[in-house]
Amino acid sequence: MKTKRINFKNYSSFKIGGELEVSLLEDNFSEIDDYYLIGSCNNTLVGTNPPPLMMLSKAYDYIKIEDNLLKIGGATPSGKIASFCKKHDIANFELISHLPGKLGGLVYMNAGLKEFEIFQHLVSIKTTSGIKAKNDIIFGYRFTDIKEPILEASFEIVPGFDTGKVVLFKKMRENQPSTPSAGSCFKNPIGDYAGRLIEAVGLKGERVGDMEFSSEHANFLVNYGDGNFDDAIFLIKEAQKRVYAAFDIWLECEIVVLDMRYLGNKSSLIKSED
Ligand SMILES: Cc1cc2nc3c(=O)[nH]c(=O)nc-3n(C[C@H](O)[C@H](O)[C@H](O)COP(=O)(O)OP(=O)(O)OC[C@H]3O[C@@H](n4cnc5c(N)ncnc54)[C@H](O)[C@@H]3O)c2cc1C
Repeated sequence: MKTKRINFKNYSSFKIGGELEVSLLEDNFSEIDDYYLIGSCNNTLVGTNPPPLMMLSKAYDYIKIEDNLLKIGGATPSGKIASFCKKHDIANFELISHLPGKLGGLVYMNAGLKEFEIFQHLVSIKTTSGIKAKNDIIFGYRFTDIKEPILEASFEIVPGFDTGKVVLFKKMRENQPSTPSAGSCFKNPIGDYAGRLIEAVGLKGERVGDMEFSSEHANFLVNYGDGNFDDAIFLIKEAQKRVYAAFDIWLECEIVVLDMRYLGNKSSLIKSED
């Protein structure tokens, strides 16, 4: 299988991780079972004991209009999608310009901002085992039950790219730190905010090594330069422990921790049965 050497300290948005060989998924679908699929690692904390990794090859970096649908390859970066929609005057993808990631990761995470979610205009996905309609996928807040690599997704085409929305989304992001992070560290529990809970247990601005629960936005775990996996995990566990003790709420990670110690006993690491 073809591989690519990636330095995750440069590649991941957290700027954490070593140099690893990553296998490339093209049409070698029978070989994928023991790998964990990554996109552009904007939501991922790469550990010191990571599973074997795989990513979609460049062959899945495309956008086309076909059968009156917008068909986007799983390896297409969000910025490219936003530019395409702007150029072709297509609505509903304005938020994408402020959501870092590739299409596969965006769909798998059902990424979004406030009331906007990538699933809103999704029609179907193409995975290594065929086409799946939106109705056959269970999805919710930063969650889907997709178990196979997403090779392509089709979206309805609605005319009218709204530049006003781009400005609005940019404004919505203004309270977020620009220091390297992986976006929100925890999902918001129903009816509450992870950031509020982290602050309430005294962890806003708490720093261990170069990792910190940002003093600008407590739910952003940020890396001031030489932050490492162990310090990140220490802070994550500390927040979970303290919030549970104080509020009886278990903070669920939104970020994906790519380390064998935290991936449980999944043998097939591409989201097989839990
Ligand atoms: C500064 C910053 C701000 C952010 N703000 C937001 C926000 O407002 N809202 C939001 O929702 N997210 C936000 N994020 C998180 C991130 O943008 C999204 O989670 C995005 O979907 C990650 O895409 P990725 O390609 O980097 O996925 P990765 O981090 O590489 O992977 C994430 C998960 O997706 C799975 N995956 C990746 N590709 C595929 C595929 N082809 N098929 C199946 N599964 C796949 C992986 O296995 C993994 O479980 C932010 C991140 C940063 C750094």
